[in-house]
Amino acid sequence: APAKPKKTKFGPLKDEDRIFTNLYGRHDWKLKGAMARGDWYKTKEILLKGHEWILNEVKKSGLRGRGGAGFPSGMKWSFMNKPSDGRPKYLVVNADEGEPGTCKDREIMRHDPHKLLEGCLIAGKAMHARACYIYIRGEFYNEASNLQVAVKEAYDAGLIGKNACGSGYDYDIFVFRGAGAYICGEETALIESLEGKQGKPRLKPPFPADIGLFGCPTTVANVETVAVAPAICRRSGEWFASFGRERNSGTKLFCISGHVNTPVTVEEEMSIPLKELIERHAGGVTGGWDNLLGIIPGGSSVPLLPKSTCETVLMDFDALSAVQSGLGTAAVIVINKQADIIKCIARLLEFYQHESCGQCTPCREGTGWLNKIMWRFVEGNAKPEEIDMIWELSKQIEGHTICALGDAAAWPVQGLVRHYRPAIEERIREFQEKTSAGNSPPQLKRAA
Ligand code: NAD
Ligand code: SF4
Repeated sequence: APAKPKKTKFGPLKDEDRIFTNLYGRHDWKLKGAMARGDWYKTKEILLKGHEWILNEVKKSGLRGRGGAGFPSGMKWSFMNKPSDGRPKYLVVNADEGEPGTCKDREIMRHDPHKLLEGCLIAGKAMHARACYIYIRGEFYNEASNLQVAVKEAYDAGLIGKNACGSGYDYDIFVFRGAGAYICGEETALIESLEGKQGKPRLKPPFPADIGLFGCPTTVANVETVAVAPAICRRSGEWFASFGRERNSGTKLFCISGHVNTPVTVEEEMSIPLKELIERHAGGVTGGWDNLLGIIPGGSSVPLLPKSTCETVLMDFDALSAVQSGLGTAAVIVINKQADIIKCIARLLEFYQHESCGQCTPCREGTGWLNKIMWRFVEGNAKPEEIDMIWELSKQIEGHTICALGDAAAWPVQGLVRHYRPAIEERIREFQEKTSAGNSPPQLKRAA
């Protein structure tokens, strides 16, 4: 077959190609409204096509996990296809959305709970799961309540439960509320928490696909990943793969916040240029594009980008990792020139120190040290050589911890040093000038 021509233009996404209805302004999230929009349409036929067929469509779609890591979903779901050894298999939906700047899963659960439930059923069938647990962030009270109503509606209508949709498949869905710990969004901490223990990550391997919830094979998948499965099965894997670039396909929810005129969560084509995304959907940077200082493109756990990179970079996994950042949760945090970039990063370090579970030394001690040094950088009360020291410290944390929280704390610091070193040096110089002239140092305004 002739090679597909290389795509150079991405978006705007047409309304009929949007999967999530929150963008249409229709808020009848209950079963009647969901069915009117096409959810639960011929779900029985999809289930009867069998798990191999569903898996194949997901593989063809090129879907990669939407929780942040971007692991190929078709491959991950197929890990559950090992011959049964008598243990039940589970799907766990990670709805513990806590990454700063991220609010896409919240939108799905608030406006489209049935799309998620139908996705749970179809994904569960693909991986021979007996039941699904949706672990929802404790703070999402209204969304948990919507989900619970939707679950009841689905049971009452015979869509889930015994003989789901009349397909002969028995499948239960449970909603479980977390209690406000960021670390419970890490998949193994989430499993521990579901089992009634403290939410502390486990060492991997073994991966949950081998030993997961209650010691059984489990797939933990993000809300958005699961919720796009029905659209992929109905409209085909090729349809989904026609958006974005190779290895970076599909439509995607982007949350745009910070210094933009109209913060928004919007669905667009994957690989859309970052600048276009902000200008088309978020009303541009406050004070204009020239007033931009930098952008964190994928939630607080990925390194920030300087303005020069933001001009051209595409919003997808590969393009962003090529510029030493990441798509992460696709939460775009825009920072303009009126912000104190050093303080922004210091505030993130305060968050990571607070959320560290304390299990491993590089993270428990390292996040504390990073936090302390960063707040001294905010004042300028540091020695220039400490810039190299904080870099080295972040490298000692990165890759040396049980879970990704250690990396997540190290990367924002690395992004700052990589791109904004002169700003830190300038701050230190100013502090030294003020103190040597006998003036009192500036008062540090630290976040509460
Ligand atoms: P990871 O790369 O370790 O794993 C990704 C997924 O693939 C996991 O489900 C894992 O079990 C599976 N997997 C990987 N290798 C496997 C193998 N060999 N066999 C079987 N399964 C395998 O990443 P992670 O720690 O799950 O996630 C890190 C990401 O989470 C970060 O990129 C960050 O952006 C994101 N994050 C998201 C939120 C949020 O609110 N959505 C919060 C914090 C962090
Ligand atoms: Fe806990 Fe941090 Fe270690 Fe993760 S990296 S297990 S959060 S101490």
